[in-house]
Amino acid sequence: MNSASSLKNKIVDLVGLKKYFPIRAGVFLQVKGWVKALESVTLSIAENTVIGVVGESGCGKTTLAKLLVKIHEPTDGKVIFYKDGKEHDITNKLGDVRSVFRRDVQMIYQNPFDSLDPRMSIYDIIAEPLKAHKIFEHKAEERDYIKELLQKVGLTPDMLDRYPHEFSGGQRQRIAIARAIALKPRLVVCDEPTSALDVSVQNQIINLLFKLRSEYNMSYLFISHNLDVVRYLSDRIYIMYLGNVVEEGDSEEVFSKPLHPYTITLMHAIPDWNPKVRKFHKLVLEGEPPSPINPPSGCPFHPRCQYAQNICKKEKPALLGEKHKVACHFPQA
Ligand code: SF4
Repeated sequence: MNSASSLKNKIVDLVGLKKYFPIRAGVFLQVKGWVKALESVTLSIAENTVIGVVGESGCGKTTLAKLLVKIHEPTDGKVIFYKDGKEHDITNKLGDVRSVFRRDVQMIYQNPFDSLDPRMSIYDIIAEPLKAHKIFEHKAEERDYIKELLQKVGLTPDMLDRYPHEFSGGQRQRIAIARAIALKPRLVVCDEPTSALDVSVQNQIINLLFKLRSEYNMSYLFISHNLDVVRYLSDRIYIMYLGNVVEEGDSEEVFSKPLHPYTITLMHAIPDWNPKVRKFHKLVLEGEPPSPINPPSGCPFHPRCQYAQNICKKEKPALLGEKHKVACHFPQA
């Protein structure tokens, strides 16, 4: 049983989340199969922490983000939201906590070219959530606050009445960040916030997010396909493969002692990763991940794993461990 103080520190628990999308075909759009996007993922986010979620495209990380912000509902499992030490089961509904959840949990999307309405001025884009939650009574106050937000994200107040097409990708992502933090959320879900940007501005956006995180005491769920991006930012890391969490642990622990062969192959892509471990494991990730419509039997990684044995093709390994967990029959300790 959770104590009141530990509940107070929590923001969200995702418990055994599963998401299957139907594949429909034919005149009557019958269900012909399922895309198994997510298989029983459990993840907890507390105040003031950064959770990194890493995996190749199609591993289910964006589905996980969308379940968390309630764009999708799960096929199975629960979403629990905590507010002032009280637990709210918000699976399939928001009920009484709709307004407070929408205020506390925000999302920054991958592509700032799609996420900002081209017909709205920067002022209107940032003011929209403030108006929805009736934050200011007077427009002058609202305008001053938005000017201040623009400065916080590295833009200037004179940009207020301009439109998204007048800005670069990096500037648009700064506008999206200003909108996301306008309500002073407790949690921001960042879905690959730099992957659509030029390499030259990626670091600037990451640095901005982390400056704001300490200023606003926010938590992040930070999603990326690149382990290098999340390694310095995350307190805890979840490695995902084909809809499953295959390894999770405190960031330093996972980086210094990766256990899952898939995590090790991701580490190999980081140029300055631990040379001793690199020498020991000469793993290269070959081929594409299998389709989530027809995932392999047993361990989902077995067709690409150099350590696979017979049992790996038959039995799916459970995610085991205490603080550092791994789903592998032969972890590479
Ligand atoms: Fe490789 Fe087997 Fe471990 Fe899967 S369970 S990662 S196939 S060793």
